[in-house]
Amino acid sequence: KKLGVALVGLGGYSAGQLGPALKITEHCRLAGVVTGSPEKGRKWAADYGFPETSIYGYDTMAKMADNPDIDIVYVVTPNGLHAEHSIAAARAGKHVICEKPMANTVAECDAIMAACQQAGVRLGMGYRLHYDPFHEELRRLVRTQEFGPFMNMNGGFAFTMGRHQWRAQKALAGGGPLMDLGVYVIQETFMAAGAAPAVAITARELPKARPEFFVDVEESIEWTMEFANGAKGQGYTSYNSNRNDFRAEAKGGWFEVGPAYSYRGLRAATSKGPVTVTPPASQQALQMDAFALHVRDGAPNLVPGAMGRRDMVVVEAIYASAAAGGKRVELKF
Ligand code: NAD
Repeated sequence: KKLGVALVGLGGYSAGQLGPALKITEHCRLAGVVTGSPEKGRKWAADYGFPETSIYGYDTMAKMADNPDIDIVYVVTPNGLHAEHSIAAARAGKHVICEKPMANTVAECDAIMAACQQAGVRLGMGYRLHYDPFHEELRRLVRTQEFGPFMNMNGGFAFTMGRHQWRAQKALAGGGPLMDLGVYVIQETFMAAGAAPAVAITARELPKARPEFFVDVEESIEWTMEFANGAKGQGYTSYNSNRNDFRAEAKGGWFEVGPAYSYRGLRAATSKGPVTVTPPASQQALQMDAFALHVRDGAPNLVPGAMGRRDMVVVEAIYASAAAGGKRVELKF
C-alpha cells in the first residue's frame, strides 16, 4: 500500500516540485493538503484525486488525527512556521517530513524532536541531495577513502533575490541566505568530512549592497568550519551574487560538483574524470519514497531530525561568530 502524504503549504516548492514528484513516487502518494485557501485545496484535490474531506486549514491540523488516509505530513511553510506545523502534525499522530532549514532556532528543533518522540512518530528532513547520485559519489569517496580524508572544502550557494518576500524577514525566515541556501553548503561540508567531528566556526558578515531590502537579516555571509582532524570547510552564501558549487580536496584526489544544489542539471567530476551517473527523474520523489519505506518497513532514514538540528547548531554558531566580529565559536551539539 502506498502511504498517504499531506503537504502543508501549497507555495512554490509544493506546487513546482513536491506535488509533481508525488505523481511518480512508488511508495507514497498525495492524500491531503493543509492550506490557508480552501479554493486552492479543492483544485489540488481534483488534480490529485483525493477527497475534499482531506483538505485542512493551518488551524484544523489536529483533525487529521481522524484521517487514516494520511500517514505522513510534509511541512513546506516558511521556516519560522516549521516548528508549529511539525508539532501539530506529530500531535495528530502523523509521521513528519520537515523542510530545510529545520526551524528558526535550535530550541525549536528540540521542540519538534521532543513532540515526535512523545507521539511515537518518525521525523525526516527535506534534504533531497542525500538521494542524488552526484552527491552519493562524494559519500562513496568518503566511505571508501579512495583519496584519503577530505581536508579542504569550499562551497558557495548564492542568487540575486529580485522581489521582497518572507525569505528576507527574520521572523518568518530566521535569517537571510544562510538559512535558505547556506544550509546546503553546511550539509555538503559535513558529507565531505565524514565521521570527523566539527569543532568550531569563524564567520564574517559582508557589507550590504541593499540594506533597505535586507533590514533585519544578512545579505551575504562567509564562514570557516573546523573539524577535529584538522579539515577545514569554507562556506559562502548571499542573496546578491551567483554561486552554486562545492569542492573537496584530499591528498589523493579531489571531488567537485557544480551546479551543486539544483534540482537537475548537476555536473560533478573527480581528479579521475567526470562522474558519469544517471540523473534521477526527481530527487524529491526518491527522498519521499525513502521516507515512506522508513516509516513502513523500518528502512534507514538518511536524513533524520537530528541532522536538521545539527545544521542549525552550525547556523547559530555562524551568526554568533559574525555578531562577535569573527570570534572563533566552539560548536556544542
Ligand atoms: P513559498 O513562499 O512559495 O510558499 C510558502 C507557502 O506557505 C505559501 O503557500 C504560503 O501561503 C504559506 N504560508 C502559510 N502561512 C504563511 C505565512 N504566515 N506567511 C507566509 N506564507 C505562509 O515558499 P517555498 O519556496 O515553497 O518554501 C517553503 C519551504 O520549503 C521553506 O522552508 C523553504 O526553505 C523550503 N524549500 C525547500 C526546497 C528544497 O529544495 N528542499 C526548495 C524550496 C523551498
